[in-house]
Amino acid sequence: MYNRAVALMDLPPGLEEKIRVCNATYTVRFGVRLRGKIETFTGYRSVHSEHMEPVKGGIRFAPAVHQDEVEALAALMTFKCALVEAPFGGSKGGLRIDPRRYDAEELEKITRRFAYELIKRDLINPSQNVPAPDMGTSEREMAWIADQYARMHTTDIDAQACVTGKPLSAGGIEGRVEATGRGVQYALREFFRHPEDLAAAGLSGRLAGKRVIVQGLGNVGYHAAKFLREEDDALIIGIVEHDGALYDPEGLNVDAVHEWICRHGGVSGYPEANAIADGDKVLEEDCDILIPAAVEGVINTGNADRIRARLVIEAANGPVTAGADDILRRRGVIIIPDLYANAGGVTVSYFEWVKNLSHIRFGRMQRRQEEARHALILDELDRLDSAMGSTWSLSPLFREKYLRGADELELVRSGLDDTMRVAYQSMQEVWHTRDDVTDLRTAAYITAIDRVARSYAAKGI
Ligand code: GLU
Repeated sequence: MYNRAVALMDLPPGLEEKIRVCNATYTVRFGVRLRGKIETFTGYRSVHSEHMEPVKGGIRFAPAVHQDEVEALAALMTFKCALVEAPFGGSKGGLRIDPRRYDAEELEKITRRFAYELIKRDLINPSQNVPAPDMGTSEREMAWIADQYARMHTTDIDAQACVTGKPLSAGGIEGRVEATGRGVQYALREFFRHPEDLAAAGLSGRLAGKRVIVQGLGNVGYHAAKFLREEDDALIIGIVEHDGALYDPEGLNVDAVHEWICRHGGVSGYPEANAIADGDKVLEEDCDILIPAAVEGVINTGNADRIRARLVIEAANGPVTAGADDILRRRGVIIIPDLYANAGGVTVSYFEWVKNLSHIRFGRMQRRQEEARHALILDELDRLDSAMGSTWSLSPLFREKYLRGADELELVRSGLDDTMRVAYQSMQEVWHTRDDVTDLRTAAYITAIDRVARSYAAKGI
């Protein structure tokens, strides 16, 4: 995918290769004493590009984690950050572990030990490398990592900014948990604001009533499906999970399914809809929008021909293989690519990082400014009121409404919405204005690579 984009660009000699490669990948093997014996774990932190620092990207806990995967995901982070103009280079980490096999206490021990190994090599550091949640990790692991860092850097006033995706009570920000799913919703809304792009996917009208299939109802898939259902009136007709799928052309109850999965570990046995053992059947079902939101490679050369969705939005990282991308493109299926579609997570991570470094609650400064401005307006209204003998502007409700500044969640959501709109428009411009660019992914890569290249050109290598 990278190669297809750079082939259409005019980069200075050698820069193409420099931007392609991962700068460094650190592999660590460490032992943890668990249940009376020492278990050895393998973990990675890969740094793809340091054209901007800190570098940024999640840490995943999964049994299939390996070096190639972590490096590819680190590269994707570089381009994702460039596309949404988050001022970070790209990085990614992973621990080869099946987290379901361990209890919370054991996971804390393992996470802290892994974090220790990365912290002592500055592979977790507020100014150099800032991890975040990914598959198999959540706020909980981020809190352990942040605490581990603080213990090892007791005088670092910016210690909290060493990792994002923390719980609110440990320096996190409102709206980070929902952020990636929220970003998918905002990406779709933006796509639907452009009738000519919709038409390219064979769609028209609004999101309301559109038939959506979601693959993976984890943090990202759940929030995307929930918001699309509740706020945009889309119909979630299919949910594909690791143990099968649910299908209902009338629409599924996302919250009820999510609750069932949290309690039972999968969709099997869900009473309100027919569970279909072969999840692939539902992935290939007719729908308007397909949202792969789990692991990479689920749409591949083995099934790309049978995908019947008109629009695929990549909530997961790398869910469509390069071979499948060719097939879908030839068939005229529009793909909203991962580096744009799931950038909501890192965008809100950026807000969290800024909040931690500024040591002030997000929204507090803005609220003060707003309040000052609104107080002036109210004074003026009071003056007019008394001049005209009326009193309406003195109503407490009116005052309350005027004086209420935007709160943190509102600021995060509007900042994310704005970011998703602007990023879409920058890649759309490349898609529409260049005859040799026929898909959004290539347009997104060209936009992102161009920004990375400019940054190298400005700084020198
Ligand atoms: N793991 C998320 C991703 O793949 C978030 C990364 C971050 O917030 O740094 O984009």
